Formats: sequence, structure tokens, C-alpha cells
Amino acid sequence: MDTMTPEQRHRCMSRIHGRDTLPEIRVRKRLFAEGWRFRVCDRRFPGRPDVVLAKARTIIDVRGCFWHRHGCAAATMPKTNVAFWMEKWSKNVKRDHRNEKAWRDAGWNVIVVWECALTGRCAERTLSRLCDALAKWAAEREAGARRRTPHRLELPRCRAA
Ligand SMILES: [Zn+2]
Repeated sequence: MDTMTPEQRHRCMSRIHGRDTLPEIRVRKRLFAEGWRFRVCDRRFPGRPDVVLAKARTIIDVRGCFWHRHGCAAATMPKTNVAFWMEKWSKNVKRDHRNEKAWRDAGWNVIVVWECALTGRCAERTLSRLCDALAKWAAEREAGARRRTPHRLELPRCRAA
């Protein structure tokens, strides 16, 4: 199942960082299957976030563990060009924080999904938690709740997996 128009796909592919990656596709397929409608690589926001769900006023940022320096086993250290990598990672991490702050300042909830949380037996649990949070936040909005601070949920690899 393809949940993107060719134009959306092109926009995604032309991003400098994190193309149309497998973890992102996994998240989008699940959301679509659960009836969520969303925009991908949304240009209206800094960093063109992966998934933007208006109904839950939520932005989902799927982060690759290597590129975005998650403190997990997948964030390996290359043997060569260490200085080059360190600078690149530092830029990525700073950009992640800057983008996330901008989204939250604009009143958007944020869910950070790490790539490692979408592998193996952990994946199903991660996707369920993601959908549960969205349903809860959308219901909150529907009930007219006004939040001073947007929600934030970070999904790393589950402990029990
Ligand atoms: Zn990780």
C-alpha cells in the first residue's frame, strides 16, 4: 500500500537528510491502516517533519539511530574520519532540538520514534503506543482541552523486547 502521492514522494526523496526510510514507511503504513490521515515531509514546518497529523495536532519525527546519535547499539562509531562524523552528528542533533522546539513552541505535540524501536518484537509495541497516544490527544482536542505545554512522547527500543 502506498500512502504518498508522487509529489510527496519526490519531496521526501529530495530532502538532504533521512530519505524515505523503512522505519518511516512502517509508521505511515500503520497510521494509514488505523484510519489516520496525515501529511508527510511537511514544508510548512522547519525540518519538514516526517508525519504531521492535524487531528491530533501532532508531529512525528522518526529518527535513525546512527545519524541522530541515539545512545543505543545502532549508534556505532566509524573507524575512520571520526572528526568528520562528529561534526556531522553534532549538526544533526542540534537541528533535531531546534526543530522540535519550533514545533512545540507553535503548539504541536511531538512524538519521537527511534529506528531501533521499530525493529524485531519491539515494533508492534511501539506502533501500538504511538496510536494510543494519538487517539488520546485527538480526543483531548475534540473535548476542547487547551494545553499550555504540548505533549511529548519519545519511543526508544522497549526494554522487554
Ligand atoms: Zn536506537
